[in-house]
Amino acid sequence: MTARILNGSSIRDQIYGELRQEIADLAAAGVRPGLAAVLAGENAASQIYVRSKIAACEQLGLGSWLHTPPATVSTEEMLALVAQLNARDDVDGILVQLPLPAQVDTKRVLEAVDPSKDVDGFHPVNLGRLVSGRPGLVACTPAGAMEILRRSRIPLEGADAVVVGRSDIVGKPMALLLMHANATVTICHSKTRDLPSTVRRADIVIAAIGRAAMIEPGWVRPGATVIDVGINRIQDGGEAERIFANFPAKLAQFREKGSVLVGDVHPGVAEVAGAITPVPGGVGPLTIAMLMSNTVKAARLRRGGAAHSAVAAKP
Ligand code: NAP
Repeated sequence: MTARILNGSSIRDQIYGELRQEIADLAAAGVRPGLAAVLAGENAASQIYVRSKIAACEQLGLGSWLHTPPATVSTEEMLALVAQLNARDDVDGILVQLPLPAQVDTKRVLEAVDPSKDVDGFHPVNLGRLVSGRPGLVACTPAGAMEILRRSRIPLEGADAVVVGRSDIVGKPMALLLMHANATVTICHSKTRDLPSTVRRADIVIAAIGRAAMIEPGWVRPGATVIDVGINRIQDGGEAERIFANFPAKLAQFREKGSVLVGDVHPGVAEVAGAITPVPGGVGPLTIAMLMSNTVKAARLRRGGAAHSAVAAKP
């Protein structure tokens, strides 16, 4: 069996099409949703992520602002910046790119973000809303994984879902979203006994571990749906040869560029699963799409009045 590939880029394009309509409705009511990104220090990966988030805002016609405090920034300075962004009416979403420099108290900074502008869904108020099944802003990566499942018409009600990973930003909110969609959810982590046989019971496997190609073909029930959240860059030749032994195109890519991306799921799983997200091009594009969606939603919910009535029909 060769799995159906769940193409995240085309689902992102669908969502962008819907957002464009909503953004036009808001514009007609005089509201332009805007996102302020805070990038502290000089982490190269963070710079790339923030750049692509700002580019997505520009592509959709959202307002965007980039704040770049130096690597030496203090917690108090970060709190002052967040307070300033909380107070601005034109800023609907505040994105504090992680990781913050080591001297900054990350939890205090994230908790200082106004929950109505918390487009990353990390604030305890939004997490509480998610736990109790109330509407709020949900973390972008798990929300994106749900969009993939729903729009690909993967049955969720009554399905056995296994989430491998329990981080606050992926595993835990993912498990809650699946539970609210009436799946029966098992959460696994580094202390789980016999991970392979737990994964093998699943109709839906979510891999959010941060370990290259860890979920092997023999762990997956034939026909299961596999959502691979992991993004791992392989730079070691031996590791590339081992993982991609039967995937000459990927090996050629590695030899040409000196590195290659792989998920937390072994590429051989695509021979067993019924449906699978690729890496890259699976969950990744949805993470940014959901950030855009959360920014538009935050604008709609916070700046009531005229904007509300213009889009009153939207959920
Ligand atoms: P994380 O905070 O490091 O959490 C990893 C989780 O995996 C932990 O709960 C850990 O268990 C569990 N784990 C680690 N080793 C394990 C093992 N041998 N067996 C079973 N469980 C194990 O990572 P994260 O932030 O959730 O990210 C997970 C992956 O998703 C990473 O590859 C990251 O790059 C990727 N990611 C992708 C996107 C995207 O846009 N596509 C967004 C965010 C993250 P313990 O709790 O017991 O330590």
